[in-house]
Order: sequence, then structure tokens, then C-alpha cells
Amino acid sequence: MKEFTKDIVIGTDVVGHPIYITKYTIDSEKPGKTVYVQGGIHGGEITLHMIRDIYNYVKENITEGKVFFIPFANPFGWGQKAYTYTVGKFNYKTGEDFNRTFGSNSAGNTSVQIAKAILKECEEEKIDFAVDLHTAHTSFPHTISFSENDLDLIKISNIEYNRLCYNSEEYKTTLNYQLTKRGINNFTIECGSHDSIEKDYQKQVVEGVLNVLNKLNICKFTQTLKPTNQVVFSKATTYFAECGGIVEFNFELGEHFKKGDVLFTIHPANLQEESHKQLAEFDGVIFRYTKTHIYNAFDEVMRVFKNEDLKQI
Ligand SMILES: [Zn+2]
Repeated sequence: MKEFTKDIVIGTDVVGHPIYITKYTIDSEKPGKTVYVQGGIHGGEITLHMIRDIYNYVKENITEGKVFFIPFANPFGWGQKAYTYTVGKFNYKTGEDFNRTFGSNSAGNTSVQIAKAILKECEEEKIDFAVDLHTAHTSFPHTISFSENDLDLIKISNIEYNRLCYNSEEYKTTLNYQLTKRGINNFTIECGSHDSIEKDYQKQVVEGVLNVLNKLNICKFTQTLKPTNQVVFSKATTYFAECGGIVEFNFELGEHFKKGDVLFTIHPANLQEESHKQLAEFDGVIFRYTKTHIYNAFDEVMRVFKNEDLKQI
């Protein structure tokens, strides 16, 4: 086994410093599959603690193949601070989501060049599988994939909730979609909440990835978590704020609600106006909500799925 690093240099910044991302490789020096583990394409989405767990396990236990890691795929996003909050999702110059730059033909900017460099690494390494780690506002672990061909590995991961998006315009220039387009098995894991470390979620994600590495014969791993009742869903319903105001949530993340329940209440600034109650239109579960109580009209408040859309896998 050998481990090594490579700085992938994209160019220089205004003061002449190199703009680069660092790739860490653990190579068994024996034939086998090649896997890519990515994190940090969005600033503020904390996944390093999970990547370190995976890295350390693989380093101790690799038997064949190779795994490479880029824990911070986008150095720009991590520098975007507003007070103590790391914004990190959109390029300030172009307004682009940092994970909407993959497969882009635009000559673009440094973010597009980083995306090109990452795809080039994936192609040159002839990867067999990739996992891209993200977090989503306030959320719990769930996978996102674009092909039913990935469901076998998703099933091995033991992650309970799994979103399968078909031909979604919204995600066409993500790493996830671009790898699927190249016939490479992969999925994204939304690992939990923005700027949070949640021990339970950490364990679910780390074991999820190691389960897949075990299946790909890279290292032996026996899961300690109980098998989950895995479900897949394709559609998500988003609730937006009907008016501006302060939002009070009536349900916790992951909680089941019934048609007619009050999901959240918006207290408008106008003291003479009644508070607005958002009623559920069906039975479902909340899988993410925005980490704030402060809303303008039309801001996204929460995403839910319908119970009837959940299919066992
Ligand atoms: Zn993200």
C-alpha cells in the first residue's frame, strides 16, 4: 500500500499564488476497482470528519484497487463568509451554483476549470464508482442518483432514504449527472445539515460508503448499524412562504405528517393580519428545511415527500 498527494493546479490568483485542489490517494498497488470520494464542492457543507473516517479505515484495510479523495473540491466557496456563516454555494461573480459547472462548455472561470480538472481526473483514473458528499440546510442523510443502475450499490449502502431523479434539468451540470452520463456508477449523499456535526449521521454515511467499498472488494467491512428499511422516491414537494414573516415550524425533520396538519405558521409583520397556516396537502415526511425562521414571500421553507411516492428497494 502507498499513499500520496497531488496538487491539481488550475492557475494563479491576483497575487500570484496557485489556485489548486489537493487529491489524496490510497493505492493498494494491486489490481482492482478505483473509487473517487469527493466533498466540499459547496463551502460550509461539513463532510471532512466523515471523509477522514473513510480515509483512515481504507488506509488500514485496503486489499485491492485504489481510492482517491478530494475533501475540498472548491476552495472559493470556503472563503465566502458573512459574519460567522460560510455561504459557499454560489459563485459571487457569476451567480452560478458551484455544483452546476460540471460538463459546462463555457470557457468560464476558475470554478468551471476546477470542474473540468475533476472530470479529467475521473476519466484518466478510469473510476468505477464515485460518491459526492454534501449537506442540505437542515436535513438527514439521503442519497441522490440519476440512474436505476446505481440502485444496487445504494441498496448496499444501507442509507434509508434515496432520491432517484430522472432527467432533471436542474441537475444536468452536477458531478453526479455528468458521471452518470459517462456510464460511471455514482451517487451523491446529502449527509445532514449545513455547518453541523451529527454523530449519528456521521456513522450512517461512513458505514454507507464503507459498505460500498466492501462490495467493490477494496476493503473488508462489516456494518455495525442495523439494516434499514430502504425506500426510494423520485418526486419532492417544495413549500414556499406565501408571505414574508417569521416562520414557526410545527414538525421536526423526519417527522411524519398527515393531510390537513399545519406544517408551519408564518407570522407576518402586519400586526393586524392573521398568522398564515400552511396545511399539508397529503400524508408525508419532511426531509429538509431551510435553516432559518426568517422568510420573504416565495422563499423555500421545506421539502417533503409523499408517503405514497415511497417505494421499497
Ligand atoms: Zn451541496
